[in-house]
Amino acid sequence: MPLYLGECKECPNCKSGKSNLCHKYHLTLSGLMLDDTSRMSIYGGQVLYQIFTCATWSEYTVVNANYVIKVDPQKILLQHASLLCCGFTTGYGATWREVHVEKGSTVAVLGLGAVGLGAIEGARSQGASKIIGVDINESKRGKGEVFGMTDFINPKESKTSVSEMIKDVTQGLGVDYVFECTGIPSMLNEAIEASKLGIGTIVLIGAGHGLTREFNLVPLLCGRTLKGSTYGGIRLHSDLPALLHRCANKVQFSLPLSVTEPRFLSKKFKHTKIVSTRKS
Ligand SMILES: [Zn+2]
Repeated sequence: MPLYLGECKECPNCKSGKSNLCHKYHLTLSGLMLDDTSRMSIYGGQVLYQIFTCATWSEYTVVNANYVIKVDPQKILLQHASLLCCGFTTGYGATWREVHVEKGSTVAVLGLGAVGLGAIEGARSQGASKIIGVDINESKRGKGEVFGMTDFINPKESKTSVSEMIKDVTQGLGVDYVFECTGIPSMLNEAIEASKLGIGTIVLIGAGHGLTREFNLVPLLCGRTLKGSTYGGIRLHSDLPALLHRCANKVQFSLPLSVTEPRFLSKKFKHTKIVSTRKS
């Protein structure tokens, strides 16, 4: 599985145990390898770039071996493994590693794509008592329920704000945790407002368009915590193997085949042409 974060276990962040953002094998946004070169080009010598070290949409790629983890296709379906490279794992990890959703907590998940469904599964695994899924796509109701969602809100069905609708099903209190997976700018304030006064935590996962957001200050000053997350806080060596084990052995969850239909995958490639796993 190619990933966009490595783990050296030696840098300050790795040693802290508090973060998955390794200083040595970090998230690269330049489209280049860690040494600022590209190993790929097309005829004529034009350099090719690869997003997040992976370039997983291309037929050929060069990936730093420190960003790859080996999986046994006999134990875990590759369709499932592809979702665990980011999407599902990001949401699941956010409830498990980025924050720790306590048993009996109330949770809202905004946006029920692979990330959001992972957050629902993670919240359920952690023992959340109420898990509210929010999506404008009605077909996500059934998918969310498969993973453990207890309530579904379709914002298109009402002119009431998302935060008000979440409060309506939580006796006006809001929820302990909100996982914002849409990246829609206006959803940031809705997520903040939907969390509990004094103790609510909002985890930002969705990136979306634009690099800036505006938010209302007062609700945050009233004791709420706003936290960002990359890959759900999951560490390549310290956390991901446990997640793969749970999936392979259906210890805590199994990915329903309904969300891993072939149409989610652009094309299957044979991986027998991996020519080197040299580490550097
Ligand atoms: Zn490190």
